[in-house]
Amino acid sequence: MIKILAIDDNQDILTVLKNIIADAFPGSKFLLARSGQAGIEQAQAEDPDVILLDINMPGIDGFEVCRRLKKSDWLRDIPVIFLTGLNTCRENRIKALEAGAEAFLYKPIDEIELPAQIRAMKKVKEANRFHRMEKEQLATLVGVRDRELKEELVGRKLAEEDRERMTAAIEQAGEVILIADSAGIIQYVNPAFEKVTGYSREEAIGQNPRILKSGHQDLKFYKQLWKTIISGGVWSGRMVNQKKDGTFYTEDATISPVRDAAGQIINFVAVKRDITENLKLTDQLQQAQKMESVGRLAGGVAHDFNNMLSVILGFTELAIEKLAPTHLIQDNLSEIYKAAKRSTGIVQQLLAFARKQAITPMVLNLNDTVTGMVKMLRRLIGEDIALVWRPVTDLWPIMMDPSQFDQLLANLCVNARDAIHDVGTVTIEIENVVIDEGYWVNQACFLAGEFVKLTVKDTGCGMDRETVDKIFEPFFTTKETGKGTGLGLSTVYGIIKQNDGFVNVYSELGQGTTFSIYLPRHVQKDCEIQLEDLEESAGSGSETILLVEDDLSTLKMTTKLLESMGYKVLPAITPAKAIFLANGYPEKIHLLMTDVIMPEMNGQDLAKKLLCIFPHINRLFMSGYTSDVISRHGVLEDGVHFIQKPFSRKSLADKLKVAIDR
Ligand code: ADP
Ligand code: MG
Repeated sequence: MIKILAIDDNQDILTVLKNIIADAFPGSKFLLARSGQAGIEQAQAEDPDVILLDINMPGIDGFEVCRRLKKSDWLRDIPVIFLTGLNTCRENRIKALEAGAEAFLYKPIDEIELPAQIRAMKKVKEANRFHRMEKEQLATLVGVRDRELKEELVGRKLAEEDRERMTAAIEQAGEVILIADSAGIIQYVNPAFEKVTGYSREEAIGQNPRILKSGHQDLKFYKQLWKTIISGGVWSGRMVNQKKDGTFYTEDATISPVRDAAGQIINFVAVKRDITENLKLTDQLQQAQKMESVGRLAGGVAHDFNNMLSVILGFTELAIEKLAPTHLIQDNLSEIYKAAKRSTGIVQQLLAFARKQAITPMVLNLNDTVTGMVKMLRRLIGEDIALVWRPVTDLWPIMMDPSQFDQLLANLCVNARDAIHDVGTVTIEIENVVIDEGYWVNQACFLAGEFVKLTVKDTGCGMDRETVDKIFEPFFTTKETGKGTGLGLSTVYGIIKQNDGFVNVYSELGQGTTFSIYLPRHVQKDCEIQLEDLEESAGSGSETILLVEDDLSTLKMTTKLLESMGYKVLPAITPAKAIFLANGYPEKIHLLMTDVIMPEMNGQDLAKKLLCIFPHINRLFMSGYTSDVISRHGVLEDGVHFIQKPFSRKSLADKLKVAIDR
């Protein structure tokens, strides 16, 4: 069946067309429209096979109708045959072609030519339609394929980016990441794994994670772990593993199963963190906190203990003096005295440990000091190790607290002993050295000047460079737990620094170690009293001393001691009592001798108050420790003196000689 649309305003022409078509195409459908607009609407509604189009019509003319039809995507396929008059045929033909027409017929209509044209044009439409469909189908197909391709690409690209991102993250993670297959064989390890364990990726892949086994966990531990992850659970915990080089490390680990789309466990992934350093730091912190609290405890105990020791020593001394030297109980008394003296030593160690020991620099001749220590040092290092000590003459003096020097030398000798495994030698040497400007250029901390150099040399195991770099750090030790504290050399360092000296270490593995310590030469001033002078002196006096001490036994004992030396004593059990006594005393008070730590007012505040009344009163503080009294570097203010509790009669006499400015 053929469908023809005729657009013409002339009814006669329409009738002619209809008749011709009805004859030529029986069963065909003839559609007509009287105007351009109606024609276009008909065309849209009916999609005819051919359109016969008049040129001159009211409203829009044929050319315009044609142009509009050809503009439409779908209607453009319908061939348009213009019906033109013969007289205007040339211009109209051109205009019609330009408007998009396919063919022309000349009026009056030829009844043979019209059906022929229609038939031909029908084929054109069919061809147009076929091509359009083909093109559209192809376009759809191409579109779909394009879309699919595009989607796949985008998909693929995203996945790739995801993978890249993930890989980069895993590769650069600080955490150790290990992926094993369902049998536990390592499939992947990240660089952090290599760094922590020392095994390269190549070495690790294909192995069982048991290469890291340290033996610190038992079979039950691993069984439990496997049971958890094989049954689909996540295992978290801490374990000690072993690196390739044999060292142990502790890690926190989380091991999870990885399932495929079907839910089957295909991998295990372990994310682990090496916490060895953290544990060590925590340990050190705990150790430091422990030391701190033990120090406080020891300091407190030592303080009270000191007071009691003062009483014991003081009264014993008094008793010894009172009794005839041949008296029966003299021996017993001297045993009490010796035992109390030894206890003083223990208290001193406690105070040293608590870093509360008094620092009283004195002029020292190290030659004598070391000679005095040799016996003790021999006992310290044991008989398998020889101690060589070469005394010298004409050594310069130094200014230092003798107990600090003892500690320094003892620490160095203990380390030397520990470095020697069976037999060996420790050599102590001492000499004067002058360090010029430009000498030791490579030692930044060295200063030019005159020094007394103490050398402690051992034939022990020696140290490598890395160890030497760390030995002065607090808590650095290579000794097993319980053996070393790592505080020996940090104390040595602190002491040297406090005394404006410096230290140099020379050591090589297997070659022994030499510590050289440089302490500045002391240039003596005339007014200073040397230790030796003090030791010879044994004194008495007649001056008035205001004695303040909150511990009654100590107060009594010290009063007696002072009185036995000939001093006049004003004893006061509290600072308030002391101020009261001082205010009411008509004569000169030569010395305030006071405890430092007392409940209502400390010794220093008391001294300040008394200075207002007696502007030049000398002050002697007594205490088990001195951190509150002594300024930095252990130097006392002018007019201030200090005596360490407990004190002997002789040391008190010596101190009074200095303190009372005659
Ligand atoms: P500690 O003796 O408690 O370990 P130290 O601070 O005294 O602490 O010493 C720190 C470390 O320095 C020692 O653990 C040791 O490794 C090293 N060291 C010190 N002195 C010597 C020495 N004479 N020979 C070899 N190593 C030494
Ligand atoms: Mg040590």
